[in-house]
Amino acid sequence: YHNEMKIEFPSKSQNEAFARVVVAAFASQLDPTIEELSDVKTAVSEAVTNAIIHGYENSSGTVTIKCSIDGNKLTVEVIDFGKGIEDVELARQPLYTSRPELERSGMGFTVMETFMDTLEVESQIGKGTRVIMTK
Ligand code: ATP
Ligand code: MG
Repeated sequence: YHNEMKIEFPSKSQNEAFARVVVAAFASQLDPTIEELSDVKTAVSEAVTNAIIHGYENSSGTVTIKCSIDGNKLTVEVIDFGKGIEDVELARQPLYTSRPELERSGMGFTVMETFMDTLEVESQIGKGTRVIMTK
């Protein structure tokens, strides 16, 4: 079984809730438990929030989400074309944040890793960031 979808929206914080609901609606064809669905929503929220506040630093840009289902596996990609991450390994450390003044806790990537089965982060300075998660 294979299915896929793609959405694009402007990097506004109001779209974070929209994105998480759309991905959950798509994922629901896998007949997930309430808990699995809630895990996916949490991870999508974190990735989309990062694209908006870090990738585009709250300026305007486009966030793309690609989802696919293969058999029983869901893959979610959250893509921005923003500033990129200098050191992905450092950024993924629990409690690391480049924006402590915004009262971020530096737990976004850790949350994604915890709530999903796999997490890959690809990023290029000045080009953007792609977060690929599966469950
Ligand atoms: P929290 O998610 O707990 O509010 P945070 O966003 O700083 O805090 P993470 O989500 O773990 O923590 O991200 C760690 C760091 O990685 C960020 O502080 C930022 O420097 C960088 N980062 C994450 N996503 C992106 C992105 N899409 N574009 C550019 N930098 C990013
Ligand atoms: Mg974050």
